Amino acid sequence: MSEKLKRCKACEETFTWNEDVILVNDDVYHKDCVSLYPTGYVAYIDDEFLGETENEDGSSAYDILDEGEYKEESV
Ligand SMILES: [Zn+2]
Repeated sequence: MSEKLKRCKACEETFTWNEDVILVNDDVYHKDCVSLYPTGYVAYIDDEFLGETENEDGSSAYDILDEGEYKEESV
């Protein structure tokens, strides 16, 4: 057996070619060996932490704000 085989950092088992693996900071784990939590995005202004956001792609102001809270399109 080749000593080059990577082992899961959690269970020390090797990987089969078609297993789902998760790469964390250059370490490899079986997908089943770790718990994944989507943390979304966090927003900063310069170094000031604002908070988490889930619409990191941006949404139109009229989707987020109530009428009167944004400027109407100038005609
Ligand atoms: Zn594992």
